[in-house]
Amino acid sequence: MPRARASAPVRSVPPPLARTCAEEGCTTRLSVYNDAAHCSLHCPAELLRTRGRHIA
Ligand SMILES: [Zn+2]
Repeated sequence: MPRARASAPVRSVPPPLARTCAEEGCTTRLSVYNDAAHCSLHCPAELLRTRGRHIA
């Protein structure tokens, strides 16, 4: 089976919709490259890591 030529652009994937943070009231737009449902401020892992402590 011959390989498809890479010269033809594939447009089967629609442009991603702008997403916002899943935190209620937060309108921070998420990067299309960000898989997380929350912005950096509301990222659960981030909250867990910094909760109650100053790590700087
Ligand atoms: Zn947020």
